[in-house]
Amino acid sequence: MISSRTARALFSDRASGSPPVPDPAPAAPAQVPPADGSWQLPDGAWKYLVIHHSGTSAGSVQAIHREHQQRRDADGNPWLGIAYHFVIGNGSGMADGQVQATFRWDQQLHGAHAGNALINARGIGICLIGDFEKTAPSVRQLDALRKLVVQLAGRYQISRRQVIGHSSVRSTRCPGRLFPLRKIQEAVPQA
Ligand SMILES: [Zn+2]
Repeated sequence: MISSRTARALFSDRASGSPPVPDPAPAAPAQVPPADGSWQLPDGAWKYLVIHHSGTSAGSVQAIHREHQQRRDADGNPWLGIAYHFVIGNGSGMADGQVQATFRWDQQLHGAHAGNALINARGIGICLIGDFEKTAPSVRQLDALRKLVVQLAGRYQISRRQVIGHSSVRSTRCPGRLFPLRKIQEAVPQA
């Protein structure tokens, strides 16, 4: 059972004042019993892959999770924890090229990474550890990202144009000027 307190927390890092996500189709059987069904996305709901950098030289799922648990949304409610669905390590904090799914992916929860309600609801957030304003991602990170993007794009029928950097949806430098977005997009087969 999910308590009403937990249910409230599930909504807490949604953008303040954002409309509820419409539920266009009967939801697939839930992996976790939802409090009211609305927070859990039906299968096939993912429409975007949103790529971020951590903006730090080192990092891990655990470290980001702890940091994001300290954050509060505009209503003062604490975030659930790490905002992303996947993290790819750079050898400092996690192995170089290691891909780790977070609780948001395991539970198929909305993200809190984009600063945009639609993209948070429909975008899979992928964070590469590093500051790509200063240094380029490692070869292993890019290999791992390419494989992950191709796999997810194939599974959810996400097109090249729906593989985006954070800066496409919000005024930010993320994922950094040294991140080769075009090359990652081009790894996705054309429909
Ligand atoms: Zn970002």
